[in-house]
Amino acid sequence: MKVLKFGGTSVGNVENMNAVMKLITDGEKKLVVLSAMSGTTNALVEISDYLYKKNKDVARSQIGRLESKYKKIVDKLFEADTRKQEGLKIVEKSFDTIRKQANGKFGPIKEQTILAQGELISTAFFTQLMLENGHKTKLLPALDFMRIDEEKAADLQAIKTNIAKVLEEVGEADYYITQGFICRNEKEEIDNLQRGGSDYTASLIGAAIEADEIQIWTDIDGFHNNDPRYVNNTKKIEQLSFDETAELAYFGAKILHPQTVLPAKLHNIPVRLKNTMNPTDSGTLITSETSGSGIKAVAAKDGITAIKIKSDRMLMAYGFLKSVFEIFEFFKTPIDMISTSEVAVSLTIDNTRKLKDIIKELKEYGEVQIDENQTIICIVGDIIAEERGFAAKVFDALEGIPIRMISYGGSRHNISLLVSTNHKQETLQAISDNLLEN
Ligand code: ASP
Ligand code: MG
Repeated sequence: MKVLKFGGTSVGNVENMNAVMKLITDGEKKLVVLSAMSGTTNALVEISDYLYKKNKDVARSQIGRLESKYKKIVDKLFEADTRKQEGLKIVEKSFDTIRKQANGKFGPIKEQTILAQGELISTAFFTQLMLENGHKTKLLPALDFMRIDEEKAADLQAIKTNIAKVLEEVGEADYYITQGFICRNEKEEIDNLQRGGSDYTASLIGAAIEADEIQIWTDIDGFHNNDPRYVNNTKKIEQLSFDETAELAYFGAKILHPQTVLPAKLHNIPVRLKNTMNPTDSGTLITSETSGSGIKAVAAKDGITAIKIKSDRMLMAYGFLKSVFEIFEFFKTPIDMISTSEVAVSLTIDNTRKLKDIIKELKEYGEVQIDENQTIICIVGDIIAEERGFAAKVFDALEGIPIRMISYGGSRHNISLLVSTNHKQETLQAISDNLLEN
């Protein structure tokens, strides 16, 4: 069985939902993961923010506005009156739940419950739409099988056991529909896989049921070799390896949630990125195979902070880096890039929540310098570091661009550069002009 995931835009209005139905109903049994209709999760986040700020009046009026939007959708989506009634019941149930969360003290559990309604509504709607059109469809409640542990990491073993049970309970169907993003935590509370997490749901389910393929359907025809928002004439990439994809997704290519790759890689299940607007296009295929040598793509990740620690104590000493890294470990802050010299070490982070505490601790070890508004440029491919002249080619291509850090040789899949965000566009363009095949 294949697992197909459709994002918020793909189910964002009545026309698109009908298009998705047409697309998937080819008689081949499949499991379909859906996001909330586009804009909904943002709206629910906003409502929660007002409830945190104890501004119940604004929250209530926003809830009302969203509810009437959904009621209008019901009227357009379904033909028969009985289905329309069914649709209204779905809306009522979710909005009752949302309103209930506004009572008493607001907190994370209530927020997660509110956020879950987006996916609960979109999948319930879509299931009804499929049934109204005569397709043998069953809804699988993700809250009955998607699990995370105390560390908020996916519990694949539990998911595997649970989903097998749920599939058996609901019985035979041609099409199984389920919610992306939402899950339960170790306390059985409603929780989620973080924003954009529906892709991750699809790959976890794919791994859990040993799917033939995981397809992620969006509104772009796959990974591009450069960022189309900043550079002209980018090209779609036909094939990527899991490792190359992981680097690209982590370092800024917005098309795929970065955690998606791991379950697929571990279970060796091919992932295909497809375009709902152009379904006949082959998209990008991601497998364990490398796809020829050379540079394949570049991605950029903004909002990076560079930290430099300069210390004479580092000279000829051992254990210095360990002490530095322990500070980041203590404050649960991941490091992305590092670069060292004999008397200084530079590294980058993107989560600055604990930056003040980190700086305070680092100052015990030496002089600390912070540079904000940095961008990591991640060049990906099968790059053979030993190849003569390769580094020179990269440096030549970037002539005139001030590079703050460079990381080369850490893996054969990637070269990372750190530039000030002001120089991002220029850097992406230079790479496109000089290093990529277009
Ligand atoms: N609806 C969730 C979000 O907007 C999950 C997803 O769409 O992947 O983040
Ligand atoms: Mg997404």
